[in-house]
Amino acid sequence: MSQTAQTVREDGIISSVSGPVVTARDLDARMNDVVYVGDEGLMGEVIEIEGDTTTIQVYEETSGISPGEPVESTGEPLSVDLGPGLLDTIYDGVQRPLDVLEDKMGSPYLDRGVDAPGIELDKEWEFEPEVEEGDVVETGDVVGIVEETITIDHKVMVPPDYEGGEVVAVESGSFTVDETVVELDNGEEVQMRQEWPVREARPTVEKKTPRTPLVSGQRILDGLFPIAKGGTAAIPGPFGSGKTVTQHQLAKYADADIIIYVGCGERGNEMTEVIDDFPELEDPSTGNPLMARTSLIANTSNMPVAARESCVYTGITIAEFYRDMGYDVALMADSTSRWAEAMREISSRLEEMPGEEGYPAYLAARLSQFYERAGYFENVNGTEGSVSAIGAVSPPGGDFSEPVTQNTLRIVKTFWALDADLAERRHFPSINWNESYSLYKDQLDPWFQDEVADDWPEKRQWAVDVLDEETELQEIVQLVGKDALPEDQQLTLEVARYLREAYLQQNAFHPVDTYCPPEKTYLMLTTIQTFNDEAFDALEAGVPVEEIIDIDAAPNINRIGVQEDYEEYVDELKSEITEQLRSLY
Ligand code: ADP
Repeated sequence: MSQTAQTVREDGIISSVSGPVVTARDLDARMNDVVYVGDEGLMGEVIEIEGDTTTIQVYEETSGISPGEPVESTGEPLSVDLGPGLLDTIYDGVQRPLDVLEDKMGSPYLDRGVDAPGIELDKEWEFEPEVEEGDVVETGDVVGIVEETITIDHKVMVPPDYEGGEVVAVESGSFTVDETVVELDNGEEVQMRQEWPVREARPTVEKKTPRTPLVSGQRILDGLFPIAKGGTAAIPGPFGSGKTVTQHQLAKYADADIIIYVGCGERGNEMTEVIDDFPELEDPSTGNPLMARTSLIANTSNMPVAARESCVYTGITIAEFYRDMGYDVALMADSTSRWAEAMREISSRLEEMPGEEGYPAYLAARLSQFYERAGYFENVNGTEGSVSAIGAVSPPGGDFSEPVTQNTLRIVKTFWALDADLAERRHFPSINWNESYSLYKDQLDPWFQDEVADDWPEKRQWAVDVLDEETELQEIVQLVGKDALPEDQQLTLEVARYLREAYLQQNAFHPVDTYCPPEKTYLMLTTIQTFNDEAFDALEAGVPVEEIIDIDAAPNINRIGVQEDYEEYVDELKSEITEQLRSLY
């Protein structure tokens, strides 16, 4: 968070303290200004002004502060520091680096009154200019490059609130983020560090229709319910259904350049897991540490509620900054329910009129403001970049009719519904194929047709049809039993079983199966379809269904997922299936 102490203006006095909500009188501040509260100087934000009374949400534990203590306004909105050093860092919800907090406090959870800049101010970065004296640069233009991590080149840009002009001086070499690297003829000076208010979207030229998938390497997602680069998705599911595993899989394998992982107040130990795990992980596409393209924002539920409210804004602002550089960014928020609960708690402290289930009436507006900031954009500097936003939702009791799930559903275009029954049966990922959907399918098909196979959409439709038919048949089976079905329907059930077991299931913990490239996803479907076509031919030729189902080769369909040399394996398997079935008649 930006250091704005030098701009501190007027003092006010605390008049009341109610959990994270503090009121002050005589404070000269505007809406959303950052203020320092009490003798300890706890960080807060103005959320309401009424006459002489200012209401503040405080980002830190407020026990111990009391009426009469001073409040200072910085006169500036809650902003994040943007610049090299954001990646490979773990922040709290107001962009204080956890390791710095830990050093200062001895624990990441006792963080009252500790301020720390969002990016390191002393560190020197090797700046390589991309402009020369005499060049004219505009807002957003890239003036130079810094190797931020082993994976990512950080583009130093003219900040959005600059006018731009002719370059009159340019430096190269080692600089800190606050040293000027480019000077313009109008007196503007470009440093590597910018600030941006978190509640405001960074400017762009145009939001475009996204046409490239965010390939996840998860078969059911890429194959049936794809998300676009710049798309929005929700993962609702009850406790233990696999939200976190799915988010982690995406963070590891999605083909985004940059990953922003926002853990807003999931159970404390889970976020600790992320904090411990992620630094150990390798980026499968480069072999570099995964953290080299990742920024983590971690607000466990034992951190104050207001910091949870702000964490998604901090996350999406960082995401937009890398989008401006022309990168594809994927932001995961786990879980948006905790975020909504933070809103609810603050709203109730404010004694606002509650809406559905006690959530504030502006819940829907807040959710849509957040997801609206996702998209595939033409940036002000002419590059294209994207922010994909994927939010987990944890509805109490897994009941999707509750307000957070329902409001999210109205906004997002991809819906991956996790299912407790599937999870209980150990069908993972437990994404319910009947309830889930993607509204991006059609616009992404050309990409899959060009990059993978011409008949990608037909293959998908075939699989969807078989699974639909299975759902209907299952109802009959429940009533009369499988053996009462005609043979062709029994065979359909068998094909559907392979679709479920081989194609839809995928083991996140198997070293090979954990990531499935689209080619493999496609070949797996073609194998099941080969079985289907040959099996129905055999049935038509009079072979009894039991014999068809019983061929040796068929169960190997379930082994495709774990094959590294899947092309060869699939070729052989298809021939075996064909041979064995044809030998029956
Ligand atoms: P949630 O976040 O919804 O509470 P988790 O993501 O922690 O649930 O998942 C619960 C458990 O389910 C995991 O610990 C794991 O054992 C299992 N699981 C979930 N998804 C998968 C998967 N894709 N492959 C294998 N196991 C999974």
